[in-house]
Amino acid sequence: MMSITDVSFAYRKGGEELFGGLTHKFTPGAVTAVTGPSGRGKSTLLYVLGLLLTPTAGSVDLDGRPVSHVSDSERAFIRSRRIGFVFQDSELDPTRKVIDSVVEPALYAGGRRSEQLPRARELLKRFGLVERAEHRPGQVSGGQAQRLAVCRALINSPDVILADEPTGNLDRDNAALVLDALTGTARLDASTVIIASHDPFVLEQVDEVVQL
Ligand code: ADP
Ligand code: MG
Repeated sequence: MMSITDVSFAYRKGGEELFGGLTHKFTPGAVTAVTGPSGRGKSTLLYVLGLLLTPTAGSVDLDGRPVSHVSDSERAFIRSRRIGFVFQDSELDPTRKVIDSVVEPALYAGGRRSEQLPRARELLKRFGLVERAEHRPGQVSGGQAQRLAVCRALINSPDVILADEPTGNLDRDNAALVLDALTGTARLDASTVIIASHDPFVLEQVDEVVQL
């Protein structure tokens, strides 16, 4: 389980302090939205939760253990095994087949392609993309590319999935597909899904909301 205690973050010493000492326990099996006006720190909070930034004050805990201040190598290890990140406007390698884009993060974590293909295929199926498996990202729509980015984030079965404005550039149908798939993942795998979003469509469907 992921939790934060008294967390603040400033990009510069003495600069604007974000979050003002935020404390929250994120519920496994549920989807939580982090919301608030533009510039309030939604993306930054996701980077802090994803151990890409170290909080200026307070701590991030995983299963009751502080993980925000461990060594760089340990953080990288936790990130690759336990955290899946869907960045805003994820760039996909246009030369790689869809199925290989999904498998790629598993290879970085030490997996073998042949062993990973069944899970990659299952994820593509879950997200309505299996018929695109042999295509290249240049041949998929924006909505499909966003779903593909989610599949990449899920390949290593992370306990925590962080998604930054995952419905940002999508029409309602595609937004619903992405949201349903993330909710399904939370329920199926009992994983903790955290979405940064100011999309009212997202906010009315998630289980919990953290307001920044
Ligand atoms: P949101 O996602 O809610 O729009 P952000 O987390 O992107 O907010 O930004 C929060 C604040 O931090 C903003 O004032 C933004 O200008 C500032 N900020 C974001 N990234 C950086 C950075 N790399 N360096 C300095 N300031 C940043
Ligand atoms: Mg943002």
